[in-house]
Amino acid sequence: MQLHDKILTTSYSNYRHKKLVDRTFNFNTINDIIKNDFPHLEWESLGQSFEGRSIRMVKIGSGKTTLMLWSQMHGDEPTATAAIFDLLNFFESDESMAKHLLNKLNIVFIPVVNPDGLEVFTRRNAQKIDINRDLISLQSPEARILKNAFENIKPDFAFNLHDQSSLHCTPAQIPVGISLLAPASDNKLSVTWNREQAMKIIGGMNHLLQKLIPNQVARFKDDYESRAFGDHFQKYCPTILVESGFLAHDFEKQEIRKLNFHVLLEAFYSISRNSYQEIDLMNYLMIPFQSQNLLHLKICNCTISVGEKIFQVDLGLNYTESLRKENRVLEKSFELVEIGDLSTLEAYENIDASNLSVRTSFSLNNLADIVIMNKEEEIIHQWKSGIRV
Ligand SMILES: [Zn+2]
Repeated sequence: MQLHDKILTTSYSNYRHKKLVDRTFNFNTINDIIKNDFPHLEWESLGQSFEGRSIRMVKIGSGKTTLMLWSQMHGDEPTATAAIFDLLNFFESDESMAKHLLNKLNIVFIPVVNPDGLEVFTRRNAQKIDINRDLISLQSPEARILKNAFENIKPDFAFNLHDQSSLHCTPAQIPVGISLLAPASDNKLSVTWNREQAMKIIGGMNHLLQKLIPNQVARFKDDYESRAFGDHFQKYCPTILVESGFLAHDFEKQEIRKLNFHVLLEAFYSISRNSYQEIDLMNYLMIPFQSQNLLHLKICNCTISVGEKIFQVDLGLNYTESLRKENRVLEKSFELVEIGDLSTLEAYENIDASNLSVRTSFSLNNLADIVIMNKEEEIIHQWKSGIRV
């Protein structure tokens, strides 16, 4: 398809912002980039987070159609923030595509809605509020800022940029690279005019993604949440949710970041030419729903003895990540989440314990304490209070 070729031939590596290399960049790095790398752009402070960090927006383009994109309202979801700075690099270039888009569109980016959460790599803000459940009571400054920005900007199209758990998979149990949704704006899940436009744009985005990550695109859970921003904004303009998922061997999600770059350009391009209007809704409706059905780690064929009794099980473990503040490294804490026959579940990592002995406290949904030894009683794998040692 000619349209996708135009997007895919933009040489991403020229635009990848080099100060952003992993998922744990801090707020100082964002300040440095805004101040030193894009000082000539039209940045505007929208206000301050609970702990006093600035939330800023930048406007580019001189077109009549206004797009508003915001990222990282959940502080531990940084992938699209990096992609926004890659896109800003692209828009500074001489590429004809960049010039065309700037001519047709007026694009507002709000990178990092939750800078306090970014600083400590947590979903919630410093008040422990989930900003994306604070649309109605507006107790967090971040939610007030985002709502005001939307009301002032009055975009024609909105993009809500997140990261999702790496445990989401397609019906074929393959990790979801990108998940998309045109959120409903009422609890009947009505397909309103706005929602229909968003679905069509997503249909085109999916088409592009299928070229890059075939069968690793899914639809996010389709329900209505009145306290969430995307669901509310859909009442006023076509609104698209983009959730950055996970690909095996892409732990820092730099491949997913590149996918964000391309898929957002695809959406911009189809909006700039109104070409999305010709996309059949089936292109959206055929995107499979995802489920949360993966494991991070599976230990298969464990022979367990409790007193005199012996039985065989598989153990399923998932981890959560937390930021070690001294060096901004993410530490994984494993929990034992499933015991029994797990032969139908896929995992990122599999350990076959057939010829090994396994000792565990069987503390389900608690931090894993597991020792796996060989016949010589040497420890092969071990988790102590959740930490792999
Ligand atoms: Zn999120």
